[in-house]
Formats: sequence, C-alpha cells, structure tokens
Amino acid sequence: MLTGIATRGPQKMLEFKEALRRVIDGVPRLEAEAADLNDLNRRVLTESITSNIDLPVADNSSMDGYALRAEDVQQASPENPISLKLIGNIPAGEIGTNVVEKGTCVRIFTGSFLPEGADAVIMQEDTEPHKDGLTIQCTDAVKPWENIRFKGEDVKLGAHLIDSGTRLRTRHLGLIAALGQATVQVSRRPRVGILATGHELQEAGKPLSPGSIYESNRLMLAELVQQMGAIPHIYPLVDDTLESTKEALRIAAEANDVILTSGGVSVGDYDLIRPAIEAIGGKIHFWRVRLRPGKPFVFADVGGTPLFGLPGNPVSAVTTYMVLVRPALLQMQGAKNIQPETRECRLSEAIANRADRPHFFRVQLGEQDGVTSAGLQGSHALQSLSRADGWLCVDPGSELQAGETVSVMVWDN
Ligand code: AMP
Ligand code: MG
Repeated sequence: MLTGIATRGPQKMLEFKEALRRVIDGVPRLEAEAADLNDLNRRVLTESITSNIDLPVADNSSMDGYALRAEDVQQASPENPISLKLIGNIPAGEIGTNVVEKGTCVRIFTGSFLPEGADAVIMQEDTEPHKDGLTIQCTDAVKPWENIRFKGEDVKLGAHLIDSGTRLRTRHLGLIAALGQATVQVSRRPRVGILATGHELQEAGKPLSPGSIYESNRLMLAELVQQMGAIPHIYPLVDDTLESTKEALRIAAEANDVILTSGGVSVGDYDLIRPAIEAIGGKIHFWRVRLRPGKPFVFADVGGTPLFGLPGNPVSAVTTYMVLVRPALLQMQGAKNIQPETRECRLSEAIANRADRPHFFRVQLGEQDGVTSAGLQGSHALQSLSRADGWLCVDPGSELQAGETVSVMVWDN
C-alpha cells in the first residue's frame, strides 16, 4: 500500500479550496484582442463563434465520378451497362455550365459543386469511358442523392458553433478556418515571468561546484504556462540575498502580467521571497496552504502584478502550479472551465493518506487506466514525476481501496 507520512501538530494554513477561491478572485481579467487564425491554439475565445456561411457551402460530390440523373441508370448493372452522353467536366474549384438533362452526365471530382439537373454521382469505379470519348458506360445503379454532400449538412448559416470562454484546441481550428474569418477575438496572452531562487542553483551545461545542484523548475513551468496560452519569460537565476531578490521581483513585475517564483518561500534563513515582496511595497494575500506537496505557497501582489511564490522542490512547484496557478491563468483569460483535466480510472492498489492535508500523489495509468503509484513520492523526486501520468488527490486521513473508481488529474498537452 502507498502511504503518505503523517505530519506533526496543527499549523496555521489556509484550506486548499479557500486558497483557490482567493486566487481566482484575486487575479485581474486581461483584455481581448483580435488574433490571426495561426495564433489561436490554446487561447481563450472572448466571442462566440457563429457561422456566417453554410458548410458545405454548396451541394458537392464526395467521389470522383460522373454527375447524372439517378433515374437514367436505375437498371444499370455489369451485364446491362447504360450509356450516357458526356457533356462537360467540372474540376474542383470550378462550376459547371451545362445542365444535366435526361441521358447525359458530367465528369466530376471530389469536392466539385454539383451541376444543375444532376441528383446523384456515380463513382468512377462503376463506369467505363467509351473509346469515342463522348459517352460513358455505367455498370451500376445509383440511388437519388448518392455520393452527394449537401449544402449546410455539417454547419447551417447562423448556427452557434463555439461558446465564448472556450479554450481553443487543435480540434476547433479547422472549423474556424473553414468559416473564412481572418481574425477571431480572444483574450490577450498573459506574459508570465519565471524566476528561480536559490544560491545552490546552477544552469545546465556548467560545472557543479560543491554544494550546488542543477536548476530544474523554470523549464517545466515555462512549458506549462505556454500550454495555457501564456508567454513565458525565463529570468536568470536569483541568488539568496534580499537585494538580488528585490531587484529580480521589481524587474519581473514591470514586464509581466504574472510572476512565478520558485524556492525561498519556506521558513529558512534564506527564504527571502516574502521579505523581498514586502520590502518593495508588495502585499502578501496568503502564505501556506493545507496541501501536500507544496504547503509553502505565496500569493501576493507586486505593484499590481499577481505573484505566485511556488515552493522550490520541483514536485511541489509543479503540483502547486497545476492546482493553484493554472486555474488563475485561465481565469485571467476568461475561460469558462478552469478546472484541471481529469480522467476516471480504477485504483490498482490501495492508497492511504495519514496526514492532515490533502495529498496529491503522483500516479501512473497502466492497462485499462489502472492507477498505481508513479514511484517515490518525495517532493524532490523527479524520476517519479517523469513517469507520472497525473495526480490523485487523497483526502486527509482517508484510504482508497484497490478497485475504487477515482478521478485522476492529468497533464495538459
Ligand atoms: P526552497 O524552497 O528554496 O527551500 O528549496 C527547497 C528545495 O528545493 C531545496 O532542496 C532546493 O535546493 C530545491 N530547489 C529550489 N529551487 C529549485 C530549482 N529551481 N530547481 C531544482 N531544485 C530546486
Ligand atoms: Mg532556497
């Protein structure tokens, strides 16, 4: 069984739900802007998308073949081919000029608009062109309207298609593009400054001096905010001095809509995020949330810019981002659904949380979405994070049994 460690004594901490409420209420709403179609993915719509045209825009062929009148070939079969006079040719992108009358047909291709008079398309495979090039032998019958895609059968003119507040994903883009509007109203992208504090931190590619470790939070956070439509700005590492922390926060607050810091929010002598915020006139809304991993978490305001001070341990930083910052970034953009993505799964092993805080265990999804631990649950454990498909939140003092249905919070993509 997977068991979380118990924690000591009662501590002054904000309940997770209350922290989330304060974060949601405390972030500003960004303005809307017109965005080009190639800049829409993952952004939040601020207008509803309504169709200004029918899709398909006209009756058209779903096959390469010949447009004809179905009744002309009702009796056609391989033994009884029926000849039709070929009177025209309509490549996709052009329209026919000849009316299809009794005993005639028009060469047509997938997507070509149906010519006047025709009520069906016979597929090319059921025909044989005559050597004379003037007639076509039909070796099969077609039903009226066979192989035709109707005007407006997918989308009717004036139809309501996508709600305002939807976070646009790849699957929406084809539909929007097909409507032909050059721009769409979406929220401005939040600019997110990403800082990592810690005297021990070193950049990848440089040698490690004794006592130091490689920094590993900014990269993940930048990727995560990008998935929410935001523009990340990664700042240089910040040393554990009050001066450098103040200076870094000042610079980031000027250039961004949101600041994310990692590290320096606990109770150690070198945890300087809170003193630095206060020293530059910022306001701390709350500090410490009843949550595991990630109890030390700061929500503050620095000169009008919301600041999220994440814990330095990489698993804590990512987990608190997912449950407290991701919803805030979506809220700022006016998204309707700011909840994390979840998947209903079945527990393959029992999981217990003996602690007094909700515990977000990192879990793997196996065959048929069976949920197991992703490995070592320590908040420093990057290998298990790398194997995790998501998080399972277990309430304090509760135990979930193998076979139970659970809701797993999954990564975005
Ligand atoms: P702190 O929150 O600053 O007390 O840091 C908690 C733990 O996380 C310490 O072991 C730090 O070395 C580690 N840590 C802090 N920031 C980072 C980072 N950006 N990358 C990797 N480890 C970090
Ligand atoms: Mg530190």
